Amino acid sequence: MCKEATTERKGGIYIHIPFCVQKCIYCNFYSTTDLSLTRDFLSALKTEIRIRRAALQEFNTIYIGGGTPSVMPPEQIEELFEKLYKNFSVVPDAEITMEVNPGTVDLPALKRYRKVGINRLSIGVQSFSEKNLRFLRRIHSASDAIKTIQEARNADFSNISLDLIYGLPGQTLKSWEKDLTKALEFAPEHLSCYMLTYEPHTPLTSALNKKHFSPLGEKETGELFMATPSFLARNGYLQYEISNYSLRGIFPSMHNQKYWSFHPYTGLGPSAHSFSGNIRFWNHRSVTRYIEVLKKEQLPIENKEVLNREQKMIEAIYLGLRQTDGIDLENFHANFHKRFEEIFKNVVALLENKKYLEMNQGRCFLSPQGMLFLDSIAGMFAGTDF
Ligand code: SF4
Repeated sequence: MCKEATTERKGGIYIHIPFCVQKCIYCNFYSTTDLSLTRDFLSALKTEIRIRRAALQEFNTIYIGGGTPSVMPPEQIEELFEKLYKNFSVVPDAEITMEVNPGTVDLPALKRYRKVGINRLSIGVQSFSEKNLRFLRRIHSASDAIKTIQEARNADFSNISLDLIYGLPGQTLKSWEKDLTKALEFAPEHLSCYMLTYEPHTPLTSALNKKHFSPLGEKETGELFMATPSFLARNGYLQYEISNYSLRGIFPSMHNQKYWSFHPYTGLGPSAHSFSGNIRFWNHRSVTRYIEVLKKEQLPIENKEVLNREQKMIEAIYLGLRQTDGIDLENFHANFHKRFEEIFKNVVALLENKKYLEMNQGRCFLSPQGMLFLDSIAGMFAGTDF
């Protein structure tokens, strides 16, 4: 959805903490397991915060992601926030999220996070099945995950999101619903349910190519994808994005919505992306390179791109279609001076005919079935001559 023309434009801050205890088999995010670098990394991050200080802009979301931010000692997280608050203007009721992984946090650490202003936790549970956790090479057990959720509540976190993965080898609808049911026992305010994907250069894909296991079939994976929104809706969780659900529709991630709506965000840390207007730029991926460059008091920017109107339009369509609200046709016209329904009438008619897409009340959105083919449908719009 392209909300540029209608909503206020406070910024978001994303901080990438590039450390993990060990690499999970499916992961292609940038992170290193060399935890001896955390102190040098923090010094570099503080330098980046100082150089990029934004005195005039107000920020209403902060997201500390990774990697596994909770592998940083709590005193380093406190130091980070002290620096951040000094250099960026964060509004008092800002949504401040930190990703934590079971097995890397305890109650005292969670209490310290709460004290520095973190008010939302995203907990990397992934599954409550020991077999699945072992397959994914997570460092934690199901009981570690349960302990972290309970400790988060005890540390006064009233906005918790749980990450779950589905589409694992051998998974059935019954076993996936068992995982979801377990998650719902803790009444999280938010759930992210990600389909397992086979990314290039991951140990998972390499094991698949060597036929070390049989992946779940496309049909079976599609069934889990289709069953998830209705199962969660019956339990009070409304889907607002392809992988995201909010309790009674009132706890969506404000920060992630910025990414899908072209709101400005400032990314700090290795590989972090920043965006404002039409410009996107990103930092070096390697933590050692990041540290080196900042030691010289230089910005760690690796590259940037300037989006032209057509590129931004295609992104707006892709980002809009991944949200259940879809594309706001009036906003689209206000932003791009073209009528969506006119320039894409052939693609729209074709997709409506297949029941993959609907046009209703000034919006264009995908049906649950259409969401399953989001990438190829977005490709059809991108391939239109407009
Ligand atoms: S903990 Fe998260 S970031 Fe780290 S390797 Fe696993 S999936 Fe990737």
